Amino acid sequence: MNAINYPSTAHTAPACSFTEAVLRGLATDGGLFVPSHLPPLQADTFKQLMQADSCHLPGIALLEPFVLPFSERELKNILQTALNFPIPLISLKDNIFLLEVFHGPTLAFKDVGARFMAGILTEIVKKTGTQLDILVATSGDTGSAVAHAFYKKKGVRVCVLYPAGRITPLQEKQMTGLGGNILAVKIQGTFDDCQHLVKTFLADRSLALPGRQYSTANSINIARLLPQMIYHSWGIIQLKQGGKYLRAAPLMSIPSGNLGNLVSALYAHARGLPVEHFIAATNANAVFPDFLTQGKYAAQPSCQTVSSAMDVGNPSNLARLQHFFQDDLTRMRQAISAISVSDAETLDTLRRVWETEKYLPDPHTAVGIAAAWRFREQHPEYRHHPVIVTATAHPAKFPAVIQQAIGTDSVIQVPDSLQHLRETAARFTELPPDPTALHNLLQSFRGED
Ligand SMILES: *Cc1c(COP(=O)(O)O)cnc(C)c1O
Repeated sequence: MNAINYPSTAHTAPACSFTEAVLRGLATDGGLFVPSHLPPLQADTFKQLMQADSCHLPGIALLEPFVLPFSERELKNILQTALNFPIPLISLKDNIFLLEVFHGPTLAFKDVGARFMAGILTEIVKKTGTQLDILVATSGDTGSAVAHAFYKKKGVRVCVLYPAGRITPLQEKQMTGLGGNILAVKIQGTFDDCQHLVKTFLADRSLALPGRQYSTANSINIARLLPQMIYHSWGIIQLKQGGKYLRAAPLMSIPSGNLGNLVSALYAHARGLPVEHFIAATNANAVFPDFLTQGKYAAQPSCQTVSSAMDVGNPSNLARLQHFFQDDLTRMRQAISAISVSDAETLDTLRRVWETEKYLPDPHTAVGIAAAWRFREQHPEYRHHPVIVTATAHPAKFPAVIQQAIGTDSVIQVPDSLQHLRETAARFTELPPDPTALHNLLQSFRGED
């Protein structure tokens, strides 16, 4: 089989190498990079994976063909640094399993992709001797994951732009408390202003500082998507090892916004990981469920919900999903059911799980559990079928929603990393959404490289 390269979902740009795809983020024709093929794992590799005692071995086997020219040893080192936290599978009543992908430094699954991409980019910078500035616009979780992932990495500086007054105080602390090579910029505007500013800055060569390369780190970067295959596989391996995977493969319920988590799970499945059926769980932003039922795509302005990281009205990874199914809606429907969950149902699910199991899910995970329950109700043949729900964030990130759901936030067990944050000082610069102002700021920024 030929080596994997990365064509664009828009079909006109030439296919790129992994390194180019990571550095560029977006293809020159505006499409997203996708792997040219997804080779199934060999039977003996698969057997070995099922015996693994951590996610590192599956990580190497799953990613090795995708990351040329990185060697197996380099990949191993990058994974060891990136995935330095546990990803346990927690068992609830009636065959619901929660894959807790939120034990990284910023307490959401986005740490996995951000930390892997940081490892890859740092290695590229080291080999080529470039000085890299990464600009990232954020509505909350992405910025903190990227900032933490690159903190103290040599040759890279990160500039995080976030909208004033539109992120939670905790999210702001997670970005502004670092210092060093991380520059936090509070923009007097909306998230769209931040994103527009990044795009303008990157497109206008006259704004670039001499001797520096520029890149962005938003969630469409292929280096963030690919490593997510690892934990989906690790969830199934743990299920199997726990003896809970009996006759049939499990269902998978995935709390979804931009659909990156769903696409990576489909990739893992294509490589041989057994999954019976996928449930795409969205909040009231039901663009994807509507698309699956109606067969027509209509982007919507996003509306605010209690699972804010999934408030997406135009899911960026839909192009990858369509490419994966070669625009065959029938096949997509066979593989995926999409379920939209209201805020009332999310809060009720959170409360029910807390009251009956003494387990406190975050609001995004609650959307995934609610969708799993509803799917099994609607399909009697699956009534007791094992479901793995991706638990995407730690409840401590959302105390106000927890309070709303169960009447108190005092039962949240706040991890040390958050306790710590409360004591750090916030360091940020406030700017209007103006590219020249950003240029001047970057010019005067003396972050230790
Ligand atoms: C980003 C995010 C999601 C949505 O993931 P997608 O890959 O964009 O579908 C769900 N939950 C949390 C906590 C997130 O931060």
